[in-house]
Amino acid sequence: MTKVLVTGATGFIASHTILALIEKGYEVRGTARSANKAARLNAILSDYAGKAIEIELVSADLTSDDGWSEAMEGVTYLQHLASPIPNNLPKDANELIIPARDGALRALKAAKAAGVKRAVMTSSMAAIAYGWGDKRPDILDETHWSNPDNIKDNTAYTRSKAIAEKAAWDYVNGEGAGLELATINPVAVLGPAMSGDVSASLELVTQAMQNKVPAYPKLTFGIVDVRDVAKAHVEAMERPAAAGERFLVGNEVLSFSEIGDILREAFPDRKLPKGELPNWLVRMMVPLNPTLKQILPELGKRRAYTNAKAREQLGIDFIPAKDAIIASAQTLVDLGEL
Ligand code: NAP
Repeated sequence: MTKVLVTGATGFIASHTILALIEKGYEVRGTARSANKAARLNAILSDYAGKAIEIELVSADLTSDDGWSEAMEGVTYLQHLASPIPNNLPKDANELIIPARDGALRALKAAKAAGVKRAVMTSSMAAIAYGWGDKRPDILDETHWSNPDNIKDNTAYTRSKAIAEKAAWDYVNGEGAGLELATINPVAVLGPAMSGDVSASLELVTQAMQNKVPAYPKLTFGIVDVRDVAKAHVEAMERPAAAGERFLVGNEVLSFSEIGDILREAFPDRKLPKGELPNWLVRMMVPLNPTLKQILPELGKRRAYTNAKAREQLGIDFIPAKDAIIASAQTLVDLGEL
């Protein structure tokens, strides 16, 4: 069986990617900061899949050299998903930039040394759409790169993703030549949660469902279903022509209040926020609700992009954003989290 190493195996996107890999007959080894999470992870994957799933989990931290070469033994493909994605941004951006960049390089260097054929790395729209100031292209695509040095038009998280992806390409185009790389650059990822311990992106749904904001900040989000993101990771690993390519993975762009409307219609018994908040009020609310800090660079802006490359070259037939939104909320309700 062909073995694939999935880093950050406990994560939201990684869990779906693991199941998509297993479905296609791959053997999966995962990394987590602590391999003690193996039993819980396998129970979560098995519950969701409705059948017994048992993957091997090994310890590897993005901030330490320990364990990476052992993790790569016998591996043909690397799926590198681990990266810090916090609910609340740290004061020092390096708390995200250093693990994201150095961790990606640790994983890629260990992969190259072990003779891994191809690495697929989860980058982000954060590495495409930020730091442009007033010059952001009307329609974003894979040829575009964020400028992480324009700090005003970035967060620590968006900078960490752009810097890490750039470092990865520099590595395979230099010292790491011979190791193939493809990156998946998703927009905000929603869709079914497998456990209550979910990615920060699901805050989009939980903030609305828990009525945490009085009304919605004027924001738009590109939305993609986690099942499509998982598929994109597998396709980018298997398709010969995907080597050396970036793939923007996103479906429709919706405003926060449109997301709320979809949830209100799907969950009529819930009290959900209504209407939009003026931008000045959102800025004032940040100290009370620090999650909002993540979205300040995007306040009042509308984003547009094309997903043509992912559709044409990876064969992704995108799940509607509405289904992804409702699936997030419904699974969290079913898990007793909402
Ligand atoms: P998640 O559920 O929070 O998963 C993040 C994973 O990264 C966790 O499994 C965590 O592992 C691991 N990690 C964090 N810091 C680490 C460290 N120092 N050492 C080792 N592992 C570490 O988030 P996700 O949404 O699935 O994110 C997966 C990837 O997709 C990330 O690269 C993220 O930037 C990217 N992405 C996400 C979105 C989105 O909307 N969710 C959009 C674009 C890109 P532990 O179990 O050890 O904590």
